[in-house]
Amino acid sequence: MLKINEHYLKLQASYLFSDIAKRVAAFQAANPEREVIKLGIGDVTNPLPQACIQAFHKAVDEMATTSGFRGYGPEQGYDFLREAIAKNDFQARGADIQADEVFVSDGAKCDTGNIQELFATDAKIAIPDPVYPVYLDTNVMAGRTGAFKDGRYEGIVYLESTKANNFVPELPKEPVDLIYLCFPNNPTGSTITREQLKLWVDYAQSTRALILFDAAYEAFIRDPKLPHSIFEIEGAREVAIEFRSYSKSAGFTGTRCAYTVVPRECMAFDASGNKQAIHPLWNRRHCTKFNGVSYPVQRAAEAVYSEAGKAQCTALIDGYLNNAKIIGKAMAELGYGYVGGDNAPYVWIEGDQDSWAFFDLLLNKAGVVCTPGAGFGKCGQGYIRLSAFNSEANVVKAMERIKEALK
Ligand code: PLP
Repeated sequence: MLKINEHYLKLQASYLFSDIAKRVAAFQAANPEREVIKLGIGDVTNPLPQACIQAFHKAVDEMATTSGFRGYGPEQGYDFLREAIAKNDFQARGADIQADEVFVSDGAKCDTGNIQELFATDAKIAIPDPVYPVYLDTNVMAGRTGAFKDGRYEGIVYLESTKANNFVPELPKEPVDLIYLCFPNNPTGSTITREQLKLWVDYAQSTRALILFDAAYEAFIRDPKLPHSIFEIEGAREVAIEFRSYSKSAGFTGTRCAYTVVPRECMAFDASGNKQAIHPLWNRRHCTKFNGVSYPVQRAAEAVYSEAGKAQCTALIDGYLNNAKIIGKAMAELGYGYVGGDNAPYVWIEGDQDSWAFFDLLLNKAGVVCTPGAGFGKCGQGYIRLSAFNSEANVVKAMERIKEALK
């Protein structure tokens, strides 16, 4: 008799987006004439930058020739992309990262979900609340938690991000081994300063913990004082792994390309307490379970770093940031407190009511879809997330409707 992995049975069914879809469908059925504006899920809406499209086309044409055809590529990514990443995303910011420390992949979702395989089942995990759910669910699947009780999994150390700490969690009070951090944050849109991040790096150094730093929204940072990478912080090379993605920085959600940086000094410990480098282990995992991102997609990603690509990506993100500003301004005019939106595509709004009640209010009175904060964790209760991923015209219209409905 084949037994299943019992840990999967602990997983809470993710009702969040299906619940949202059901409520939106019911509203549309009852109000077929009303146009609904979706500021809920975090998917981009604008087309790929022209520089990426041109590189993509060119690479597809190469694949149609005998001389240009490519079969399996290097699992870690082509050198042309790894070198462009190391140079532009790290060395240009003073972060010492080499091309062979970059692992190109088909998504930060897979990478942030898969990385935990490298660590012991009894590793103590610290996870933010509210959180991008992948970090939590993949550790549940791996058996690092107990049962789900009162809205939380036993065995996890929750790092609470609340108004009291300006949505940047404090260092844990109990010992932890693996720490997930995400800045600019999904769902709160909050950012972390260099000094705050240094505290985490120092903590990891002194406790022999490891930080998994998700910088999927790095490209939205406009404040020159904020760090773009954890590797801008001294000492991070020994204690951090960073995840990046072209999904939001260049509109690749449907094209799929991302990368993970594992510095050669980054260490975990074996049962005897000896240091073990993580780089060769991740390389082993990557080569065993992944066969590389397609050549045309990697060429399209490389074009992000061309002069035209840089300008086009900046313009793309500026458009979303402008939408976020419109959202924040409207909510402030209505008297709601919020964070995010300055260096992130998400605006996290304090609703002074149950998250789902606020969701229903916006849907029924304004025809606008948001994401209820409670869906991201216990600390999200009372909040909603509005996403800037839509056209400016739709965002303006949505905020006019919300102002009219809530005034
Ligand atoms: N990390 C965070 C914090 C995200 O919000 C998302 C997507 O929404 C991802 C990772 C996934 O990125 P990708 O599209 O590269 O899988």
